[in-house]
Parts: sequence; structure tokens; C-alpha cells
Amino acid sequence: PTISQLLSDSIRDVPDFPKPGILFKDISPILSDPALLRHSMNELTATSGGQKIDKVVGIDARGFIFAAPVALNLEAGFVPVRKKGKLPWQTHEMAYSLEYGENIVEIHKDAIQPGESVLLIDDLLATGGTAAAAIKLIKQLDANLVAASFLIELTDLNGRELLGDTPVNAIISY
Ligand code: 5GP
Repeated sequence: PTISQLLSDSIRDVPDFPKPGILFKDISPILSDPALLRHSMNELTATSGGQKIDKVVGIDARGFIFAAPVALNLEAGFVPVRKKGKLPWQTHEMAYSLEYGENIVEIHKDAIQPGESVLLIDDLLATGGTAAAAIKLIKQLDANLVAASFLIELTDLNGRELLGDTPVNAIISY
């Protein structure tokens, strides 16, 4: 089997989490397996395509798990995009809509310098709302967003379409 097959086979489907009707993709079996953990980090690292990356941005909270090791692999810095109220310094914030209501994510104003090259990472791309908000924050800091990379993409939800002209990479697609 290919690496993405091995990764894909190990993801656990959890029905009705966190709400009835939602089939949640649980990545815990990948994280707890040393070989799969390393494979997933290597695959995400390769999505930089050999381009120089200054900052890897990870999205709260499972995105952090992947973004920090990928940053180390790329000799880049790590920058968190967090849910509102968690970052201690001055922030830019961006609201995005959910099925019911809205969420707000933030980034530190001084986390990325103008012109720096950025790779955005999260565990999963669903509707794309979360990643689209993170992309707006990265662009607000005048960074050069090289790509957005996800361990998993739920293709039926067309999340990529919300991400505009940002190149999108996914290791596993459902
Ligand atoms: P979106 O904004 O694209 O609809 O949702 C993506 C965000 O929600 C990601 O930050 C991701 O962590 C989380 N998410 C949504 N559904 C799932 C799921 O089935 N499994 C996992 N692991 N995360 C999910």
C-alpha cells in the first residue's frame, strides 16, 4: 500500500460527533503510531515543493500538532492562528460563519514580516471556512502564502473553492 493509503486506512470514523449527523474523522490512530506520525509529517513537509518557507502557520488546535514538526523540518518558524481570546499580544482578527453562528480566529500582528513565505497547515479541510479566515489573516500581514496543506480533505464539501488562488494540497482525500 502507498503511504497515503496506510494513513487513510488508519483514520477512524466516529458517527454523531460532535453533533448528531456528523461523521467525524478521528486522526488519533495516526498520532499514536510512531511510523504513521512520521509519515504524515514527512508528507506535509514535502508539500512545500522545495520552496523556501519562513513561517509555517498552524490552525488551532489539531493544526498545531502538524505545523510545528513541519516547521522544524523546513527550518522555518511556527506561528499559531488561534480562536479568539487565546493570544496574549496584539492581534488581527477574522470572523467566519459556521452552520449556526460565527467563529473568530486571531493572529499576532508581529508573527510574520511583510514578504515572508508562509505554508499554512491544518489537519482537515471541510467547508474551508476556517482555512479561508486564516488565509485572510496571513494576507493582511502582507505575507507570501505559498500553499495551504491538509492531512485530510473532504472533497464533497468543495472547501478548496473558498481558498481562492491559494494552491491546496491534501495527503488524503475522501
Ligand atoms: P471547515 O472550516 O473547513 O468546515 O472545518 C475545518 C476545521 O474543523 C479544521 O480546523 C478541523 O480541525 C475541524 N474539523 C471539522 N471536521 C472535522 C473532522 O471530521 N475531523 C477532524 N479531525 N477535524 C475536523
